[in-house]
Amino acid sequence: MHGEPRDGRIVIVGASLTGLRAAEKLREEGFTGSLTLVGEEPQPPYDRPPLSKQVLLGKVPAGHTGLPQRRELDAQWKLGVRATGLDPIEKRVLLADGAEVPFDRLLIATGTRARRWPHPAEGALDGVFTLRTSDEARRLAERLDAGPRRVLVIGAGFTGSEIASACRERGLAVTVAERGPAPLVGALGGTLGALAAKLQRAHGVDLRCGVTVTALEGDGRLTGAQFSDGTRIDADIAVVALGAVRNTEWLVESGLAAGPRGVTCDAGCRAFDMYGIVTDDIFAAGDVARFPHPLFEYQLLSLEHWGNAVAQAEVAAHNMVNPGPRRRPHLTVPAFWSSQFGLNIKSVGVPTFSDQVVIAQGSLKDARLVAVYGYRGRVTAAVSVNQARSLEYYQRLIETAAPFPPAPGAADQIESPDPVPSDVPDPKLLSHGPTVALTGHLPDRRLTVVQPAR
Ligand SMILES: Cc1cc2nc3c(=O)[nH]c(=O)nc-3n(C[C@H](O)[C@H](O)[C@H](O)COP(=O)(O)OP(=O)(O)OC[C@H]3O[C@@H](n4cnc5c(N)ncnc54)[C@H](O)[C@@H]3O)c2cc1C
Repeated sequence: MHGEPRDGRIVIVGASLTGLRAAEKLREEGFTGSLTLVGEEPQPPYDRPPLSKQVLLGKVPAGHTGLPQRRELDAQWKLGVRATGLDPIEKRVLLADGAEVPFDRLLIATGTRARRWPHPAEGALDGVFTLRTSDEARRLAERLDAGPRRVLVIGAGFTGSEIASACRERGLAVTVAERGPAPLVGALGGTLGALAAKLQRAHGVDLRCGVTVTALEGDGRLTGAQFSDGTRIDADIAVVALGAVRNTEWLVESGLAAGPRGVTCDAGCRAFDMYGIVTDDIFAAGDVARFPHPLFEYQLLSLEHWGNAVAQAEVAAHNMVNPGPRRRPHLTVPAFWSSQFGLNIKSVGVPTFSDQVVIAQGSLKDARLVAVYGYRGRVTAAVSVNQARSLEYYQRLIETAAPFPPAPGAADQIESPDPVPSDVPDPKLLSHGPTVALTGHLPDRRLTVVQPAR
């Protein structure tokens, strides 16, 4: 490094929302050194939330979701090239085209990608899609324009449910297959999951819960699918919406604490090495980062929220160009939104960090409500459905660890004042991360060995 934190060479790997917002913040904070952004996708940074909403509805072309650049960056853009490795000793990023990019400080912002269908031959059938990139959204929107006879959506998380909603709005026949008991259960628990199921069915979705898709059929072209309950359907499009995979493979030999759950970092966005020692020149932010949050018992959170990406990018950038005492923690309360089946869903806090939930305002019957989540007697999250106005109030309750259930306000009538179990999945059951084992006996010879997930 050239002495001053505001000078030197900063490299950002991942040129999307997090990468762009961090670059802007670095310049805003007075960074005058060289700035390089490396991105695998050929196009400049764009926004993903519209891809499963306005783009699939045909209201916005896939190529028109570019993120506005809010200031001059004076940066070198290396787009359309993947980073394949990181040498933290020599401080360089290795690229797929054989080039090397030296750095003094590095920001890892490689986000996630869509999980593929596990059977490659079936996944390669014409008509099978995933949705994460602008290209994928364009191809899927084109196929929806052509009027398929039936769309199968595999997985009813947020992305799958939004895709199903867009297809129904286009008047297409839709089957949704969900392994869990209802849509959105993995993110919002049983109460709102049941509401989502009711609404999907009311909007004409053939919703099948508690089943898995066991095979995608076709000969070159998708023709149908088989389910674990022995049934089958004809379908000419299947969208695999089985969640996201963190883009950390390029870091496998970097010595960083990087794996399927993301790149572990401290609250100041500094990455940990594989021994759990914090580095001082490598930072992580956005969907790829995994960080401790004091409001959630310092558990490591991996979030896939637009707002978190922006806030964490800004904290990382600030800390990259400021000395220790002036560094900031990333303490933003997580928040996200979704729109589907006529519902405007907004969330603050971490609904899965809960043991109970109560409908604090409104009612499930009217699909207009605020559900408040609690963990061991304090408020940890709130989700509004078509009633976002009061969410700020609940955010303050989360921030102040207010008692759960919250005192009834002067708000409208409450359907049921009694908390019920939140029925979020046990995180241990969802775990598919690697195990870290210790080897060696002498204290100075101990090493950590990462064992792949079984
Ligand atoms: C369809 C869809 C709908 C969404 N809707 C919502 C919503 O309604 N509300 C909400 O809060 N959030 C939503 N999100 C999530 C939100 O878009 C993400 O939180 C946000 O994109 C995270 O930004 P990021 O820059 O951290 O990661 P990403 O956007 O994943 O960007 C990472 C970038 O790094 C690149 N990259 C990966 N590996 C490498 C490598 N080795 N070398 C170089 N480049 C690499 C990738 O190509 C990508 O461009 C949605 C996401 C999707 C896909």
